[in-house]
Amino acid sequence: MKSINAKNERREFLKLGSLAVASIALAVYSGKSAAQGVPVDEKDSVAQSLGYKADATKIDKAKFPKYAAGQQCANCQLYQGKSGNASGACPIFPGKVVNSEAWCSAYVKKA
Ligand code: SF4
Repeated sequence: MKSINAKNERREFLKLGSLAVASIALAVYSGKSAAQGVPVDEKDSVAQSLGYKADATKIDKAKFPKYAAGQQCANCQLYQGKSGNASGACPIFPGKVVNSEAWCSAYVKKA
């Protein structure tokens, strides 16, 4: 009986260990793909006045004729996120993060 209990305990230990490793890997991966911070809310007054949309393809082109297809935070000079990240900081929205595929009328093409 003791050997069966020992096997079960070892099995449980290995299961918990695998879960712990998976959790750590997920946490590390998440940290690399997105910046820390509160995402900009499109309904925020500053966001609304600048026409910020988390998905640049949803920009109201009649209201913001400056917008051109392909423009997005990821290729804006003000974007501070790393290449490939889903989001990053922008000085227009201090303390918050913008979506890399977002756009606002303060857009400046990256040189
Ligand atoms: S200024 Fe540039 S990086 Fe900031 S929200 Fe507007 S388009 Fe995105």
